[in-house]
Amino acid sequence: MASEMKVRIGGVEIGGGAPVSIQSMTDTDTRDASATTAGIRALSAAGCEIVRVAVPDEAAAAALTEILSESPLPVVADIHFDHTLALSAIAAGVHGVRINPGNIGGRGNVRAVAEAAGEAGIPIRVGANSGSLPKGLLEKCSAEVALESDAMALALVEAASAEVELLDEFGFRDVKVSLKSSDAVVTVKANRVFSERFPNPLHLGVTEAGLPERGVVKSAVGIGSLLVDGIGDTIRVSLTADPVEEIAAAKLILESVGARVPRLEIISCPTCGRKEVDVVGLAERMERALRAADASGDLKSARIAVMGCPVNGPGEAKAADYGVAGTSGGKVVFFEKGRSLGVFTESEAMDRLLAALGRD
Ligand code: SF4
Repeated sequence: MASEMKVRIGGVEIGGGAPVSIQSMTDTDTRDASATTAGIRALSAAGCEIVRVAVPDEAAAAALTEILSESPLPVVADIHFDHTLALSAIAAGVHGVRINPGNIGGRGNVRAVAEAAGEAGIPIRVGANSGSLPKGLLEKCSAEVALESDAMALALVEAASAEVELLDEFGFRDVKVSLKSSDAVVTVKANRVFSERFPNPLHLGVTEAGLPERGVVKSAVGIGSLLVDGIGDTIRVSLTADPVEEIAAAKLILESVGARVPRLEIISCPTCGRKEVDVVGLAERMERALRAADASGDLKSARIAVMGCPVNGPGEAKAADYGVAGTSGGKVVFFEKGRSLGVFTESEAMDRLLAALGRD
């Protein structure tokens, strides 16, 4: 069910079997080109692959030239209400535009943006958002299906379908689509239905997911469920936080569904009454030591287990490459592929581990 169609945002391929990419959005005033560029650099360093910037007025559109000349990432301009801003952004050289055809003032304006994007060879992202559905659509869908979440999902599908079909009328098919709700279940239902009807690449996200604790869980449920189904080509974890936090969460979601292989993954037991060491502290110290040693990507990829006791530890962590399991006297058994290599102090075990992960 992965999208058959492929679009390109700068050098990043989306859909058609390309790896799922990570997006975020700057939170600076776009008119401040240097602050926005600094934000983009921070996102890029964190692992973001595509960045979206809000373009609310002509001054913001004018800043795009400088932002684009400095940005290490492809830039998508986010436009509402005024189609001339989309035209200005395209003229400035953005790599994609996000518009809502329903709010930029009629067919003629949509056609003008489609023609300009077509000439520039860039895609358009359209999308439906549960907060801004066309008037009366939700009521119409509510009359067709009983469940409230089904009605909202159906309304999102109908709104997004209308946008894709409108661009299609103008001969513009380089279209990526998003169907977003702040409700993870609605988001999943809507994207499942849409992906069965249209081949367009899908941008996934649970919109306005909230502060990080709840927002990450909601996003993991919504985005993760769809990715497990093979639906989705690019993702954004929308958090009420520094955008850089979105990238770490996005990476973990992609790793958890097997869309990316983690370079260094610590798996650790939940601890129980058999634990012989402070597993939480040990796992945290190991995470810090590995992160410091791998600051420049110097270590080999591996899965490392941290277990509280040797009774079940090595067995429970057979899938790990290396591991430690607490044993009497505050020491740990060091093991490789479930095979014990002896008993060591924590710092001896850490040295062994770093030596084992060092590149030859
Ligand atoms: Fe309990 Fe040992 Fe399993 Fe950890 S590894 S959960 S301490 S039995």
